[in-house]
Amino acid sequence: MNKVLQVFNLLFRKYDSQGWWPVNNKYNPNFKTKEKSEAEKFEICVGAILTQSTSWRNVEKALNTLRKNNALNKKTIKKLSTEKLALLIKSSGYHNQKARKLKEFVNFNKEFSRENLLSVWGLGPETVDSILLYAYDKPFFVVDLFTKRIFSRLGLVSGNKYDVFQDFFHKNLPEDSKLFNEYHALIVEHSKRFCKKVPECCDCPLKKFCYIEFKLKPTNLVVGCAERIGDIMNLVDVHCHLTHERFKADIPKVVADSEKAGVKAVLVSGVNPEDNKKVLELAKKFDILKASPCLLYTSPSPRDRTRSRMPSSA
Ligand code: SF4
Repeated sequence: MNKVLQVFNLLFRKYDSQGWWPVNNKYNPNFKTKEKSEAEKFEICVGAILTQSTSWRNVEKALNTLRKNNALNKKTIKKLSTEKLALLIKSSGYHNQKARKLKEFVNFNKEFSRENLLSVWGLGPETVDSILLYAYDKPFFVVDLFTKRIFSRLGLVSGNKYDVFQDFFHKNLPEDSKLFNEYHALIVEHSKRFCKKVPECCDCPLKKFCYIEFKLKPTNLVVGCAERIGDIMNLVDVHCHLTHERFKADIPKVVADSEKAGVKAVLVSGVNPEDNKKVLELAKKFDILKASPCLLYTSPSPRDRTRSRMPSSA
């Protein structure tokens, strides 16, 4: 079995069927096998447009408002002014633009092909593929930021182009809309649970496949220790001399770069009692910096070094 199917199986085993696409606020595990009504298809199309650049919770609010106002149908959306429609979908954000997109969509009357839909103002490949896959059961794999993030981290696809990612799935999976339906939903779930912006790899069901590399930008930090979890690291710099005069101007940048790169903590060590005070000051100022409790020397003579404990500000 190829890796793409193995990843699917692992995700499915972990999260089970996701019941996409939610209609009338409900997820239904049998939805992908059932014949959809025209009203359900339309709701999916509207949801796919409204979900651009916002969370599903906000989309649900907008769909519920449309429903309450008997406006979740083609005829009413056609009749409503763009301004009025924008007010009804306000909770989904970018409501003026999205109202225009909905108007363009309801007035679209060509054949429902990918190419034709992509020519509608405001509909990009992710929205069009969501419409085709989830409303019309057409086998187009939906690629979103989560898909790019997970599969880049897994080391299976690189770059950022929608078509490259979609081709990858189309080449490596059987052409099956039900499989594509479930797979995309599982990817979204996995991104919420584990593969977040800062990944939580410890219990990730995919960690045996994952080849993520942390590319630290050059900073003055030396990574002294890495707790390896599968192929993922929680980075801790265990010995850092940020009190040195030549780092003084760089400290805020070093801290910001380290946080951005996923470094969990930086242990700053003092070299003499005077230096220890500076270490404590730094640790008070920046959360990520910790005063090293055991690498501090109280004796001025290197030959007679006595390690002393220093209270950690952590
Ligand atoms: S191991 Fe970490 S980076 Fe890899 S898929 Fe899992 S959560 Fe994402």
